[in-house]
Amino acid sequence: MKTLNTEMKQEQNVDPAELQKFATLAHRWWDQNSEFKPLHEINPLRLDFIDQRAQLTGKRVLDVGCGGGILTESMVQRGADVTGIDLGEKALKVARLHSLESGIKVDYRLVSVEALATEEPESFDVVTCMEMLEHVPDPAAIISACSRLVKPGGHVFFSTINRNPKAYLFAVVGAEYVLNMLPKGTHEYEKFIKPSELSAYVRRSGLMVAGLKGMSYNPLSKRYWLDDDVSVNYLLHATK
Ligand code: SAH
Repeated sequence: MKTLNTEMKQEQNVDPAELQKFATLAHRWWDQNSEFKPLHEINPLRLDFIDQRAQLTGKRVLDVGCGGGILTESMVQRGADVTGIDLGEKALKVARLHSLESGIKVDYRLVSVEALATEEPESFDVVTCMEMLEHVPDPAAIISACSRLVKPGGHVFFSTINRNPKAYLFAVVGAEYVLNMLPKGTHEYEKFIKPSELSAYVRRSGLMVAGLKGMSYNPLSKRYWLDDDVSVNYLLHATK
């Protein structure tokens, strides 16, 4: 049964060990001082980036790999009608509970992005997929499914981590070993994605790259900001 389960997961382009990492921490999604603190802190920055480029009010939005719903709920607050999907059952449970508590309505579904792309092609104005591509076996397949899900003229946003010595130093050594911001083993260097690689996947999926922005962090001031330095964390905006 376990083997079958593993095989099914692999067919779905998901790494069970990666899901387990997030399941272990699931109860802490909305604790602003937990392992998810960085996601809470970058959220206003990425939300503004998305809203400025895609005007969220009144839009039908899909948040892929939504986790506990940090970005998902915030997009509803900007006036969007948002569906959140994830393959982590615990994360979705937390997301649903939090949405009941906050009164911010989100349609949460446990479904793979590939399956949803077959079910509901070209039905979203905006698709977001943040901090997830570096946790999956085949990121290009996720990008291609996101491309199928968005309407012609729509917007797709990705964020991930660049792959170079500086990114290794900041995202792995710094965040996990020096500053203890993230649990050790959260990120695997080999799964990081260069902007040139992400752009190539995006173009191959039929989307056009409309913009790239870096997300920088100063460990002394503990502040994040967006700029043109894509050497560590970065966001990509694509259109169809
Ligand atoms: N996008 C959210 C959460 C990022 S954490 C945010 O930025 O705030 C990564 C999330 O991806 C976790 O919730 C994990 O369960 C999910 N995930 C990992 N692999 C996945 C896959 N193949 N399909 C869907 N979700 C996946």
